[in-house]
Amino acid sequence: MSVNTNAYHQIKNELSTSGVELVAVSKTKPNQDIIDLYEIGQRDFGENYVQELVDKAASLPQDIQWHFIGHLQSNKVKYIAPFVYLIHGVDSEKLLQEINKQAIKHNRVIHILLQVHIASEETKFGFDANSLMEFIQSGRWSQYQNIVIKGLMGMASFTEDMNQVINEFSSLSHLFQQVKNILPTTTFKTLSMGMSSDYAIAIQEGSNMVRIGSLLFGARDYAK
Ligand SMILES: *Cc1c(COP(=O)(O)O)cnc(C)c1O
Repeated sequence: MSVNTNAYHQIKNELSTSGVELVAVSKTKPNQDIIDLYEIGQRDFGENYVQELVDKAASLPQDIQWHFIGHLQSNKVKYIAPFVYLIHGVDSEKLLQEINKQAIKHNRVIHILLQVHIASEETKFGFDANSLMEFIQSGRWSQYQNIVIKGLMGMASFTEDMNQVINEFSSLSHLFQQVKNILPTTTFKTLSMGMSSDYAIAIQEGSNMVRIGSLLFGARDYAK
């Protein structure tokens, strides 16, 4: 069995004391790995690729809560809109518009997180802090009636420099508090930050949702 159930129980244990939610990131992994974690109680799974998510959702238990954590193109929203539980990587108003449109079409309210660009790498996506605050303060978010903005999501730089990672998470946490002063606190609650290599730091800096893949499922093989 390639799923590390010991790591799963240990991580769940660590998270339970602080009430942090776990999204098990199963991208590139076979259905059987997901079932193995499902059978010991995990319901929240994260995927990065639309087609892979659609295929998995069709053949796995219906009560799985699917998180889309990758970069989402507007023209692919329609494929996941009927069933997705939470979209983490919303990084533009154009994408919000399309998600709202598809949510209306499917008579759903879709929950999303706004992605913020906190890393030094250009390759990562997200609003920068200023444009995020401009968008929140403008009130334009309230026109998307079939979307609920549940929180923020961010990824730290891929670096050995833990001080940099701390600073990046801390800046996102600070931004989260600022937005919280404006958006409805009944719904704006989730700060999704932290992966296998940095989740402990993320939690220290205020994360309440971590996205963990390789610690649970082993290293990914993208060559397949
Ligand atoms: C792949 C991925 C993860 C999980 O990464 P691990 O290092 O395997 O824990 C988390 N978040 C996002 C956005 C990802 O793309």
